[in-house]
Amino acid sequence: MRLTHLGAEGLAPYDLIIVGTSFAALPVAVTLASRARILLIDGGDVLERDDATAQTQTDDYGHFSDGYWAGHWIRAVGGTSRRWSGVVAALEEEDLQAGRGRPGWPITRAELADPYTRAAAWLGRPRAVCTPARPFGDTLLAAPLSHDTPRRLPDLALDLARGPQVDLLVGHTLVRLVSADRRFVEGLVLCGRTGAPRLWPLTAGQLTVLACGGLGNAQVLLQPLPDCGVPVGNESEQVGRYLMEHPHVASADVLVRTDRLPPPPAGFGPGIAAFRLSAATMTRHDLLACSLAVQGPMPAAADGLEVQRYFERAFGGALAWAALFARTEQEPAATNAVEVLADRTAAGSHRLLTRCVFSARDLRSIEVSTRLAGEALVRARVGVVRLHNRRIYRETTGGGHTMGTTRMGATPGDSVCDASLRVHGYGNLYVAGSSVFPSVGAANPTLTIAALSFRLADHLRTRLRAA
Ligand SMILES: Cc1cc2nc3c(=O)[nH]c(=O)nc-3n(C[C@H](O)[C@H](O)[C@H](O)COP(=O)(O)OP(=O)(O)OC[C@H]3O[C@@H](n4cnc5c(N)ncnc54)[C@H](O)[C@@H]3O)c2cc1C
Repeated sequence: MRLTHLGAEGLAPYDLIIVGTSFAALPVAVTLASRARILLIDGGDVLERDDATAQTQTDDYGHFSDGYWAGHWIRAVGGTSRRWSGVVAALEEEDLQAGRGRPGWPITRAELADPYTRAAAWLGRPRAVCTPARPFGDTLLAAPLSHDTPRRLPDLALDLARGPQVDLLVGHTLVRLVSADRRFVEGLVLCGRTGAPRLWPLTAGQLTVLACGGLGNAQVLLQPLPDCGVPVGNESEQVGRYLMEHPHVASADVLVRTDRLPPPPAGFGPGIAAFRLSAATMTRHDLLACSLAVQGPMPAAADGLEVQRYFERAFGGALAWAALFARTEQEPAATNAVEVLADRTAAGSHRLLTRCVFSARDLRSIEVSTRLAGEALVRARVGVVRLHNRRIYRETTGGGHTMGTTRMGATPGDSVCDASLRVHGYGNLYVAGSSVFPSVGAANPTLTIAALSFRLADHLRTRLRAA
């Protein structure tokens, strides 16, 4: 294993420097390991350490507070893959399209088809988990979630570093980037566990990928310069805006005929039945996307047996209590943002303040989607739903999904990076991860993070070949 240190040559031996060692980073390293000399840099260590965790502390305002984001942003080799639950789903075509208050993605669902398949296989899931949602009655789509053993990445990072082409530098935080002409990054300011931050030079031909997580990418690109100039990478002034989560809540109890739930596509593997509304229904009711998973069994409510017997007679079969678990799109709002604070971490990075507030539209989308899904389930004699106002409007939380802070788009006027994930204006700087999502649909992000990084690897392969 090559746990490396930076010697006299510094970063010079490497064609590609990837900061981060999790879902956004490793698809690039895996794909390009045979073609390029790669340095993986992680601010954490092979084991989680308190001093690294301390670097993720943020000051939180809005609906997410008390260390919420830090608990979902792990600073160690393998990153947050150490915690994720293994729920996998792909975005739908309409999730990438502009409308209902969201910008469109600069890439289409068709362009993601092949990367999605590769990402699914890499995560240990069959191709069928990428199948688009299928109609279930007039207003609903069946959109099951894949749920299987979560792939953890620390071992993969260490395996890569056993090969001749990849080195792994741990315990080194990327503090900020250096560029005089704002056209290429000419140095990385890195800080080891001991000592002060130090500048390590790069040349224009060396490519850098930031894969530091939904907060981490923004943190690097928001660091003030010693001369108080615009932070390198934030010439668009879009970095940090549009912080998004997926509002999560058990929005209803459901009495369900499990034998009538739509079966998953052939070869789907272990999963959870889930519904979403058709695009036409969402448009008609001005709703954001909402996935409603049937998660059970649940204990019966106080009046449960009586209600259950009544509906079993009405539906002509056995019913079981479950929860409808909503996982919703949060609309992008420029005021939901991360900003840098004056104080710094031990590595010298300015700490982050986060502000993320659900809009009335976010929460109404959960309520109305659950209500409409409930009506459709009754019509189909599949189930009957009891909506929970208090839970939806007072107890909605997130899923550990941190998205939107360096979004991709067409121009620096509306985004931080372009469709190839290259930071606007820079020849050798890329960002990877859910920070690039311009909107977030209702699918857990990791499959899409990995798919975008496989696509990025294809793009970088062409650039490395040309070089
Ligand atoms: C409890 C929990 C459950 C989840 N369940 C699911 C799920 O079921 N399905 C799903 O799709 N998603 C789930 N997620 C979300 C998923 O884990 C993240 O979306 C995913 O890990 C993001 O990958 P990433 O590579 O972009 O960032 P991360 O995994 O956060 O990795 C960031 C990497 O960058 C490093 N780093 C950060 N800053 C610096 C710096 N300045 N210098 C050097 N290195 C740095 C970190 O050490 C780390 O290696 C869950 C998250 C949590 C917390």
